Amino acid sequence: MKYIKLNTNESPFPPSPHVAERISGEEARLNLYPDPACSELAAAAAAALGVGPENLIFTNGSDELLNFAFLAFCDAERGIVFPDITYGLYPVLCEMYGIPYRKIPVGADFGINPQDFFGIGQNVVIANPNAPTGLVLSVSDIELIVRENPGRVVIVDEAYIAFGGESCVGLIKKYDNLLVARTFSKSHSLAGARLGMGIGSAELIGYLNKVKYSFNPYSINRITLLAGLAAFEDENYYIENCKEVIATRERVKAEIRALGFTVTDSKANFLFAKSDRIGGRKLYDKLRQCGVLVRHFDVPGISDYNRITIGSKSQMEAFLDAVRNIINDREIIK
Ligand SMILES: *Cc1c(COP(=O)(O)O)cnc(C)c1O
Repeated sequence: MKYIKLNTNESPFPPSPHVAERISGEEARLNLYPDPACSELAAAAAAALGVGPENLIFTNGSDELLNFAFLAFCDAERGIVFPDITYGLYPVLCEMYGIPYRKIPVGADFGINPQDFFGIGQNVVIANPNAPTGLVLSVSDIELIVRENPGRVVIVDEAYIAFGGESCVGLIKKYDNLLVARTFSKSHSLAGARLGMGIGSAELIGYLNKVKYSFNPYSINRITLLAGLAAFEDENYYIENCKEVIATRERVKAEIRALGFTVTDSKANFLFAKSDRIGGRKLYDKLRQCGVLVRHFDVPGISDYNRITIGSKSQMEAFLDAVRNIINDREIIK
C-alpha cells in the first residue's frame, strides 16, 4: 500500500527549482572535501538574518546541532530542563550523555508558563512552536526566560517558526546565553539533504564549533551546502509554500473541529487533535488501514491525541474523507 505520509512533518512541496540548478555539476567535484566553515552559506544566512557569520554554525540537520549543544553546554553538574510535553530527542540526548534533566509540566491546555522557567539554575531547551502541540510563545516571553537565566544556556528550537510564530533571533545581540536552532527540513523542503543551523553569540558558536570539528568537520556535504545556498536565494518560494501550508492548516482545523475534534492553536505545519468519539490509538490504527499515516504518541496525557502533518491539498482531502468515514462508523466505541 502506498501511504499518505502525514507523520513526520516534511514539506509536501519539492525544493525550489533553483536548488536543482545550483547543485547541477557539483557531482564532478565530489572528489574534494566540502568547506568545513560553510563560508558561502554563512555569508548568505548572515545577510538574510542580520547577524554576523561568527554567529552561525551549520550542522547535519538541527538534530546534530542539538546533539552538539547538549554535549558542549551540559554535564553531570549542569543539567537541563524542558517542558514535559516536547520534542522526544531532548531526553534521549540526556540519557545518552548522562545529563541530569527535569521536565516542567505544561498546563492543562498544554501551554508553557514562562515563569516556570525563571531562575532555573540549569540550562533550558524549549521548542517554539512546541512539538507536538504547535503552541507558540511570544518573543517577549522567550526574552524573559533568557534574561532570567543568566550564566545558563537557553536553547530555543525554532524548527517550525516559519509557520506563524515570531523568531527570537533578534535577541542574540542582546543576550550571549541564547542559542537558536533552525532546520531546513520542514519549511525549506530539504529534510533529505540534512541541514540545520545554530544562531547565537560568537562565544556560544565557538564552543559548538569545537565539538563539531572534533566529531567531523565535514558533516555537511558539497551538495547540501549548495542546496542550502539556493534556499536562501529563493526565499520567496518558501514563503509562498508556508503561506499555503498555513491556509490549509486553518481550513483542516475548522473542518475537524466541526467533526467534534479538540484542536490546539498550532502555529506549526501540523495539527494536534483528539476526537470526542474515538480514542487516539484507535483513530491512528483506522487511518493507517485507510492508507493515511499520522503520528500517535503513547505518552500519558496526550495518548488521546494525534499529530497530523499538513500535506498538500489533495492529501488533506484524503485525510478528511478517511476521518469522516471512520467517525461515522457506528461500530466505534471509544
Ligand atoms: C524535525 C525537528 C527537528 C530536527 O530536524 P532535522 O531534520 O534534524 O533538522 C528539531 N526539532 C524539532 C522540534 C523538530 O520537530
